[in-house]
Amino acid sequence: MKLVQCWDDGVTTDVRLVSLLRRHGARATFNLNAGLHAQERRFGWRHRDTEVWRLSLGELREVYDGFTIANHALTHPRLELLPLDAARREIGDGRSRLQDLFGQPVSGFVYPFGSFDAAVAQAVRDAGHAYARTTLAAEAGVGLHDAMAAAPSCHFLAPDFWQRLDRARPTGAFWFWGHSYELVDEPMWTAFEASLARLCAEPGARWCDPTDLLAGSSP
Ligand SMILES: [Zn+2]
Repeated sequence: MKLVQCWDDGVTTDVRLVSLLRRHGARATFNLNAGLHAQERRFGWRHRDTEVWRLSLGELREVYDGFTIANHALTHPRLELLPLDAARREIGDGRSRLQDLFGQPVSGFVYPFGSFDAAVAQAVRDAGHAYARTTLAAEAGVGLHDAMAAAPSCHFLAPDFWQRLDRARPTGAFWFWGHSYELVDEPMWTAFEASLARLCAEPGARWCDPTDLLAGSSP
């Protein structure tokens, strides 16, 4: 079974997440906004009672070493609300800045806030992306009939996470997404690590990139 996980927004709690993922040998894709990282770590917003901070520009390469990087637009706007040329810059500049920064091809895109329209989807395709992820959950497995509106299996905190895994098993692919800042206390981190270990123990489990789901598979 192909397992895919991706994490959004480039936040400081990713440091703890990547060490956990490395310990379990789990691959992941991190979706970043190249225009929102500064020389120093920067306060972003509050999630529940905790502050969410973005990683500094200088630490990105080391933190995400060995993981796949995908584009989440330059500055995380609602793309369909922008004039199309501004949306194109957000999409194209976001991709080229990440490619320069990480020295790896960037072929994935994640719509900020999960929102987009047909013109935005076309702009994402035109900019050279192979897929674009939404926040809509697929009925079973992953939804890839339209690669520019790719539907993962579920959010990592979905109450029916394991039932969704059961439904995905016959399709051969399971894809979850989230933000590490949603792990707000120790019990949540412990529970996530247990989930990760359980996923790794799935018969035939193989951690993949979203692009591996595109190549020749129709879930
Ligand atoms: Zn985001």
